[in-house]
Amino acid sequence: MPPHLIPSHRNRPSDDPIFSLHQEANRRKESGETIVDATIGVLLGEDGQLAILPTAARAVREVHEAEWAAYAPIAGTPEFRRAVIDDLLADAPDLRACAVAVATPGGSGALRHAIVNFLEPGQAALTASWYWSPYKTLCDESDRRLETFEMFSATGSFDVAGLDAAIGRQLATQGRSLVFVNDPAHNPTGYSLTDEEWHAIVESIASRAASGPVTLLVDGAYMLYGPRSARSLAARLLPLAGTAAVLFAWSASKSYTHYGLRVGALVACLADDRERARVEAALSYSCRGTWSNCNRGGLVAITRLLVDPSAARSCTAERDHLKATLLARVDLFNRLARERGLHYPRYDGGFFVTVFVDRALERAASMAKRGIYVVPQVLASGRGALRVALCALASRDVPRLVEALSDAT
Ligand code: PLP
Repeated sequence: MPPHLIPSHRNRPSDDPIFSLHQEANRRKESGETIVDATIGVLLGEDGQLAILPTAARAVREVHEAEWAAYAPIAGTPEFRRAVIDDLLADAPDLRACAVAVATPGGSGALRHAIVNFLEPGQAALTASWYWSPYKTLCDESDRRLETFEMFSATGSFDVAGLDAAIGRQLATQGRSLVFVNDPAHNPTGYSLTDEEWHAIVESIASRAASGPVTLLVDGAYMLYGPRSARSLAARLLPLAGTAAVLFAWSASKSYTHYGLRVGALVACLADDRERARVEAALSYSCRGTWSNCNRGGLVAITRLLVDPSAARSCTAERDHLKATLLARVDLFNRLARERGLHYPRYDGGFFVTVFVDRALERAASMAKRGIYVVPQVLASGRGALRVALCALASRDVPRLVEALSDAT
């Protein structure tokens, strides 16, 4: 009898590589070894415990049991959808006026919906050469592909010319382009785009969109951990209103330190009324055709954190405190890594940084033998890097980490 599993799914790895490394590090920790685990993208306090915004935890606890028990509407509660749009687009009125949103389980769900609704099967999404590896998994899972452009120019800035050429190629080969830009605090490099780089990206997309449908998706997983406010980023995209489709993958995971609550949204801005109505319907259909609806309790809790001014203020203050803790690690890393001559992009905040190395797999394995876990990455071109999750370390571990990284490079 032929195997039951369809051929195209027979060689799929069961474990996400990052979670497997994290589990291995945990096993060794539990057996008493002193391990530095810089693999996983969650923010830990200096005590090694998950950092949780107290106001967010309280809001979750205070959601009534009937809200947890009941179904949410397919596309999410109207209050949640409105609150996310207002949160993101308060300073970008032309985008806000043409925005629709659906609730998704985290930013991951938003990415999934973008892939299946803005690309045909077999077509490719476009992103930078260094990218969060689940982008590829999400594309594979939806029978789409992922293409990349070189992220950095020779001077270390974002290669807007490379992006522009790649969009042009996609328009020529597949008649449309869906571009993922993860900003600020890009995972895995830690790079945040400058205002000038955003300006050049917007110009490129606006001009390319004149010759075919171009959709820009801003993946804002780390939106509240970057150097500028999320709202001012959205305002930079205003020139795209009416030319390109602008999407935002919005996530409560890092912003409210509730990764497991699985609350997110896909926000889509389309100037044309008929097209916007079609997109809204298609996104809602996608919700029904995948997870049906998100958990209502999570949507209610996050809505409250967005719309209740006092809860919102408390979350900002508590998050600022966490950001300061993270920034102290980043500053220490930058000082020590520069002394050691490590090669990595400009890093001024955010959960991760990526150190460029050759033979990344070998080097990560030898660091793991010494009890220091980082995530190796190798591009199709053969160039490699080690992703370091500073979010998951204590400051006291940074010197040991940098020493191991510099031995490895
Ligand atoms: N995008 C990037 C770049 C991420 O790093 C993550 C999470 O690690 C996500 C999206 C999605 O996270 P979630 O689905 O928890 O919102």
